[in-house]
Amino acid sequence: MLLATVVGCGHLGMVVPERWSVTSLSMTGLHDDVFMPPQRTEIEAGQLVIHADFPLARRHRIVRELEQLRVDVSDRLGLPISDEPIHLYLFEHRDRYEAYAAATFPGFPARRAFFVKTDTSLSIYAHWQDRIAEDLRHETTHGYLHAVEGEIPLWLDEGIAEYFELPRSDGQVHLEHVDRLAGKLLEGTWQPDLQRLESYLDAGLFTQDHYAEAWCWVHWLLETSSERRALLQDYLTDLRRDPGTPPLSTRLARTEGGLAAASADLVDHVLQLEKLEIGR
Ligand SMILES: [Zn+2]
Repeated sequence: MLLATVVGCGHLGMVVPERWSVTSLSMTGLHDDVFMPPQRTEIEAGQLVIHADFPLARRHRIVRELEQLRVDVSDRLGLPISDEPIHLYLFEHRDRYEAYAAATFPGFPARRAFFVKTDTSLSIYAHWQDRIAEDLRHETTHGYLHAVEGEIPLWLDEGIAEYFELPRSDGQVHLEHVDRLAGKLLEGTWQPDLQRLESYLDAGLFTQDHYAEAWCWVHWLLETSSERRALLQDYLTDLRRDPGTPPLSTRLARTEGGLAAASADLVDHVLQLEKLEIGR
């Protein structure tokens, strides 16, 4: 039995049947090798072992970017670098990707890309499309993170992946999330609540609002002061040593003004980012 944690991500889903039968596959004209992962090209890029079903150049911009991401994630989060291989399976065509994903991980909601962690492996599956670079930065961040962290809370896992999914040139400001949160603040339909976010354990219940708030806490922690960045780094270090480490909110509660001050500061952070965006 495959014991796997499939990290669901907030990427646009694709509509596929929950389970494909061999009959339905043959009716679509797909080949029998639909259950085989891509194997035409194999590239080693640092920790990544990339398997593609199409010719992919070793020096492709995306490959180099994902290699660099390993260093960025480690530097920014103060994490060691692991040598555990992360297998990245790239499909050229969506139909083959969907069929493979549905056959191999039946019942898992369809995504453009997803990350799977088992007791013995770390794998990413994706198909080549317009947003492949963003998707791979997101999923590969999960891979780099899980290679060193045994357990990581859902909100933080996704917040960090959202943070690193942006190109480096964007300064890690996720405009879509900023717009969403600023709009909800204006409507009076959202206030930050880290403890509420920490209570979510099921990726299936994580909405775009949760992704946006998770990204925002991570951005605020990493980008607004060295003390806050150290607080997140220390938490990740402690979590690596002890998965039972109390949640991050307990540490923020001990800082000046407690969680209420942190939440108020987060609101200011959103509004400032929104202002910067409008001023562009
Ligand atoms: Zn994710």
